[in-house]
Amino acid sequence: MADYIYTMEIRLTPDQLKGVGLVQDVARAAGMNLYLTGGAIRDIISGFSIRDLDFTVQGNPLKLQKDFEKAGARITAVEEDIRTIFLVLPGNARAEVSMARTERFEKTGKPPIVMPATIHEDLRRRDFTVNAMALSLNEGSRGLLLDPFNGVADLEAKLIRILHNYSFLEDPSRLIRAIRFAARFHWPLEERTQARYDAAKEGKYIDHILRSSIGHEIAALAHEDDPLNVVKMLEKEGWLEILHPHWTSAKVDTNGITALMKTRQQMVDLGYLPDAGPAVMYFLTSHFSDKDVADIQKMIPRKDLVEAWRDIEDHAKELAKRLMGKEAATPSRTWQLLSSARPEMVLFLAVTAKQQSVDQKIKNYLTKWRQVQQSLPIPEMTELLITPQLPEYPKLANDVFLLLLDGKMRSRTERLKYLKPFAPPPPPPPPAPRRGRQPKAAAQAAAAANPAGAQPGKPGPKGKKGKAAAVPAAPAMPAPAAKADPKAKVAEKAKPEAKPPKAAAQPGHKPGKKVAAKSPKKKKK
Ligand code: ATP
Ligand code: MG
Repeated sequence: MADYIYTMEIRLTPDQLKGVGLVQDVARAAGMNLYLTGGAIRDIISGFSIRDLDFTVQGNPLKLQKDFEKAGARITAVEEDIRTIFLVLPGNARAEVSMARTERFEKTGKPPIVMPATIHEDLRRRDFTVNAMALSLNEGSRGLLLDPFNGVADLEAKLIRILHNYSFLEDPSRLIRAIRFAARFHWPLEERTQARYDAAKEGKYIDHILRSSIGHEIAALAHEDDPLNVVKMLEKEGWLEILHPHWTSAKVDTNGITALMKTRQQMVDLGYLPDAGPAVMYFLTSHFSDKDVADIQKMIPRKDLVEAWRDIEDHAKELAKRLMGKEAATPSRTWQLLSSARPEMVLFLAVTAKQQSVDQKIKNYLTKWRQVQQSLPIPEMTELLITPQLPEYPKLANDVFLLLLDGKMRSRTERLKYLKPFAPPPPPPPPAPRRGRQPKAAAQAAAAANPAGAQPGKPGPKGKKGKAAAVPAAPAMPAPAAKADPKAKVAEKAKPEAKPPKAAAQPGHKPGKKVAAKSPKKKKK
């Protein structure tokens, strides 16, 4: 059976994984059963990137708001009617925690009647089979996958399948969701789902879409990896104008969004995780009037997304100004400034900077200067044994990097002069050989063989001179001594299993040939 907890652990980012732990702790303390659900499970199993964590609890998550905040999460939106809270977990991982519920659709176009339910019932109200799975995070059943509609099989078949024939009628936003997923994953709708989809389109079910669902679908565009493709597919199907009547692909800054996604990928490859959402929304609506943009923003439930989108230009201008000022007068200072800026701002400015100097600085930050960083450790550091094991290495390496960025330490003499004070003292003398099953006995033999071989200036403990107690000060070259002292032979014979001392292998010492040659014989005995 597949180990889904293991798969989850290796697929989530470290921040997402910590977020799972945080939500788990809060739910456990409140005595609520917790499941990872929806798209998070789909993406964990299928290998797609996991954009947000969808949790479901059996109980009311609205009661947990304070606990989440205390644990370090930020609450960005609350939907009372479906008892869902939207969170940003430490490290910027997005999550939502919903109450396990049933939804009864009584009137077309009216919100469903929501009732608390078990996780099994909850899975039945979901949109597609691949989204109707839950992974238990509870003691006793942790790792158990609930998959009542065989979503795993549809993941393998790469199919989008509704759970029942009334799915699109009950909630027409699923028509938009179906196309969004089809565009994202490049998967087709399953045959019967396609037939229902066509009928729903023909029957204009979409006219009954709830306003709140439109807001969700708009916000979902912000987190697509290829938003332009999704927008084009939605437009082709007639759904883009449902999200806003003036929305067409002509309203999109196509070059802007293409450059944005390319730079985002470049940053991801460098280990940053910029939240491109606000910038994506900015470019998707670039050619809208301010009023239309404001109308769209009003529809979005996640206020953090809206605020970041609203402020994006001002924040970018601020950063550009700083990049043109004294604060970024040298490459090293520019590096420090950009390293402390929010990755999303670096991303947005990389694509929108109007000043050539700003543009060039960000380009250097993302490309050329990385090569300087990768050239560390420079040979002189290795030579002087300045290795990552030293506690002061990270700071020193960073200082060296910044100096190199500024074109300092060009000559070898300069580099050695700078680095020498940081070189560690030469390594201590090699430790005494302690090998074999009875190292004490072996050392005894060695000590007996060469009582004079104790470390200079380090006599053995009182009253035990020349005995086994001298082990820590065993001779560095016991082998030749063993040959010289007949006592040693006796000792060695008496303990045939003792391996020859390894001193021969130590740097700076020649191997003790005789002992090495004798040892196999001894083993045969
Ligand atoms: P994404 O990767 O875009 O986050 P997702 O499938 O997780 O995709 P969400 O909007 O985060 O989508 O919703 C989480 C889960 O809630 C879905 O996987 C699905 O199970 C359920 N869900 C969301 N919207 C609907 C809907 N309109 N009808 C039924 N279930 C829905
Ligand atoms: Mg999701």
